[in-house]
Amino acid sequence: KRNQEDLSKLNASVDELDPKAFSSKNFADLPLSQATSDGLRDSHFETLTDVQARAIPLALKGSDILGAAKTGSGKTLAFLVPVLEKLFRAQWTELDGLGALIISPTRELAVQIFEVLRKIGRHHTFSAGLVIGGKSLKEEAERLIRMNILVCTPGRMLQHLDQTAGFNGDNLQILVLDEADRIMDMGFQAAVDALVEHLPTSRQTLLFSATQSKRVSDLARLSLKEPEYVSVHEAA
Ligand code: ADP
Ligand code: MG
Repeated sequence: KRNQEDLSKLNASVDELDPKAFSSKNFADLPLSQATSDGLRDSHFETLTDVQARAIPLALKGSDILGAAKTGSGKTLAFLVPVLEKLFRAQWTELDGLGALIISPTRELAVQIFEVLRKIGRHHTFSAGLVIGGKSLKEEAERLIRMNILVCTPGRMLQHLDQTAGFNGDNLQILVLDEADRIMDMGFQAAVDALVEHLPTSRQTLLFSATQSKRVSDLARLSLKEPEYVSVHEAA
């Protein structure tokens, strides 16, 4: 009962949020679940970076996002906070299966994202896993089936969606493509196209890159619906 009241309050705060007018630089001024707020506080994140201040309010409202900001600008939290909030507000449980998928170009980057997720998500009850190969497909498959949030590389993830019985992306709420420019540079276009075919079009999609290139806009055209553009440049 208490939790239901908290959730209604949170939903009302998100309804009231005007993403274009949001001008605070503090995580505390965003309508976030207690669990996410506690995770951010534990990790000593208090002040929003520019890309976070612009992208998180839009993403909390459910918009698709095409974000570009240089390396080191804080893109990881710009998508991990909305991922946690999306599933929290949907009251996602282990029984609901895969709710969020985060695609990274390399295993190393996937591991880094996963570590940040574990830190800021520690007060949530979601299950989360990495799908980056290195183990047998079968070993990975057994753990995968119960996961709510997966951080993956494109090729390995596609293999599971094609081959792992009892595993699918039919309920997916939110898809993230991180380092979309590198995903394209590394030749993963076909794998990402095929992955997206396994996912419902009703999902929210957040696409981030360090650069804006023609190939990123090609990928965006295929995966985003009326995206909000968030582009953060260095002051000259
Ligand atoms: P990007 O993906 O844009 O290259 P990261 O998300 O990896 O950037 O963040 C770069 C660094 O900035 C990391 O060390 C991260 O912990 C730190 N960082 C990100 N957001 C914040 C924040 N709001 N406050 C303080 N440090 C932050
Ligand atoms: Mg990054």
